[in-house]
Amino acid sequence: MKISVVGTGYVGLVTATCFAEMGHDVIGVDIDHEKVQRLSRGESPLFEPGLEAMLKSNLSGGRLSFTTDLSVAVQNSLFCFVAVGTPKGEDGSADLNAVLAVARSIAEHMDGYRVIVVKSTVPVGTCDLVSREVSEALAHRPGPVDFDVVSNPEFLKEGAAVEDFLRPDRVIVGVSNPRVEELMRELYSPFVRNGHPVYFMDVRSSELTKYASNALLATKISFMNMISQICDKVGADVMSVRSGVGSDRRIGMPFLYAGVGYGGSCFPKDVKALIHTGTRLGVEMGLLREVEAVNDFQKLWVLKKLRDLIGPLSGKSIALWGGAFKPDTDDIREATSLTVLDGLIGEGARVSLYDPAAMPSLREIYGDSVCFGENPYSVLAGADVLVLLTEWRVFRNPDWRKIKSLMSGTLVLDGRNQYEPSELSRHGLSWHGVGRGCYT
Ligand code: NAD
Repeated sequence: MKISVVGTGYVGLVTATCFAEMGHDVIGVDIDHEKVQRLSRGESPLFEPGLEAMLKSNLSGGRLSFTTDLSVAVQNSLFCFVAVGTPKGEDGSADLNAVLAVARSIAEHMDGYRVIVVKSTVPVGTCDLVSREVSEALAHRPGPVDFDVVSNPEFLKEGAAVEDFLRPDRVIVGVSNPRVEELMRELYSPFVRNGHPVYFMDVRSSELTKYASNALLATKISFMNMISQICDKVGADVMSVRSGVGSDRRIGMPFLYAGVGYGGSCFPKDVKALIHTGTRLGVEMGLLREVEAVNDFQKLWVLKKLRDLIGPLSGKSIALWGGAFKPDTDDIREATSLTVLDGLIGEGARVSLYDPAAMPSLREIYGDSVCFGENPYSVLAGADVLVLLTEWRVFRNPDWRKIKSLMSGTLVLDGRNQYEPSELSRHGLSWHGVGRGCYT
């Protein structure tokens, strides 16, 4: 089937590439000329495991191409996916300017029936707004041109985006009539054949499903972080509590980890946008406000813990492992590292950092204020403390003997509860985790 995908960021590029991989003919569209040139050469502008190889093979197979020319893309596709950003607006609501502008532009270039598929995360009612924009744009054109608007939110995780897209837990499709439901069924039939469920529902339920999912995941994180604070006060171990709680089948183990707070381009903005939607509708949104408040506290907890352990941070040498908001991505949007770096630099600490993928973006923000290393060990010389912020695999089994010999201090602050305290103490290091009071 013929598809265009407007916006080639994390979601759009993965969507375009994976649909091509499934055998569809796909054109990716972006306003960023440089990005389109790089993509056309087979270079992925973002770090995502498996993406570049798949991009190259589908380009050379002729199923995938990229352009800045929306008219060519719309005229050569039945499905027009909208995958542009929906950033946080000033009042916390999702900024829909890009989505609505793309919808109008698609309408201007339509020469017959099209399915406009909204893949961006958008608040309930946005597909109705898109329909209205398209109808208004078409009203200036001679003759009738038919279209449908579909909600098809994306649930991929950065760092595992290709895998998640090709083997999703589920695909959610919000439709308003049987004609377009049939077309979407055909589009996603390769996924169904591979055993992945596709749920059809009304458009508004589909739009809300995305926000409800992200808000519930953020709630689980903040809940465990809140419990971790109690653990620290009473000497309990949050990892034991997690095992006990998660083994209840009604609850389950995944996503019950205490840490240094959630970040990224989705959870913070989606929680805020859902609070905005609920408040506008007169629904009490206190639960999610607390989820945000716990997360804000948890991001600052690293600085507080450091002050508790070593006193004023001015002049102290702090080595950070990790800058991306999670492993296997170069994305630093709303990452805890930003809060920690701002705090450390603001308080006069000397900061060094290593991250396998996020250092180019961090360098753009912090320049010479941070000493960036070439590998995990190169940031440790003379460090008073080592702080783990992102649980990349490269940090999982480090050489503690080497670490002890490089650092001038002995403190390791494990912001992701990755390490075995007894192992560190065998090497003369002092380990502090999140909510594992009994080990500190
Ligand atoms: P992104 O910022 O990485 O990419 C957006 C792309 O759209 C950019 O390449 C930009 O140049 C392009 N663009 C902007 N305006 C355009 C226009 N008028 N025409 C063509 N291209 C245009 O964003 P993203 O992370 O891919 O997120 C896109 C949407 O998907 C958001 O609504 C987000 O909430 C949602 N989402 C993101 C993730 C994720 O993990 N990143 C997961 C699920 C859903």
